[in-house]
Amino acid sequence: MFNLLVASNNPHKIHEYQEMFSGYEVKVHSPKELGINVNPDENGETYEANSLIKAKALAEFTKMPVIADDSGLNVVALDNFPGIHSSRFADSCGGNKYANPKLIEKLRGFSDKSAFFTCVITLLNVEKNPVVFKGICPGKILDKPEGKGGFGYDPIFYSEEAKQCFGTAPEEIKNKYSHRAKAMEQLINYLKKKSLI
Ligand code: IMP
Repeated sequence: MFNLLVASNNPHKIHEYQEMFSGYEVKVHSPKELGINVNPDENGETYEANSLIKAKALAEFTKMPVIADDSGLNVVALDNFPGIHSSRFADSCGGNKYANPKLIEKLRGFSDKSAFFTCVITLLNVEKNPVVFKGICPGKILDKPEGKGGFGYDPIFYSEEAKQCFGTAPEEIKNKYSHRAKAMEQLINYLKKKSLI
């Protein structure tokens, strides 16, 4: 069994990784379950930089194989806003319940509502150097939130490939087409190639 720590305090992310690793000889651990409270400042200027900051903090602390996922929503007409500021934007609005309608409002009047989710996973404590995987999920912003599934910006995001909103999609559909699923596919192939799983 390959023990892997997911460097995230987001229970939704942890759950998605547990689901996506089910069927493999991988035990997904969370910092909370291990009693670890490490919250580094995510002050990088790219998804890659922030993912590395999170992975390093947990990898140095635990010496375990660690993955950290930095993700966000990029709205093309808004110059890819909120992007790496997705979490800060949501917090500044009082959570996604308020940030999602605000984003819809910002896009009013734009005919191009295309957007994409990005996910960067950094793997540490397996190779000498960090190994990075990136997934992009193309779609558009809806005119009103739909469903209660997923988390964060999911209720306002329509996935072109899943052909549905991630707020209404069953979890196995999101876990097949999402930005995280795409980065995960590369991570799984890598772990297989290294005979770790
Ligand atoms: P972080 O990667 O944990 O810093 O998350 C960045 C922000 O993007 C948070 O506001 C999350 O809620 C949001 N986010 C990350 N992944 C997803 C996703 O899969 N669906 C919807 N929102 C997401």
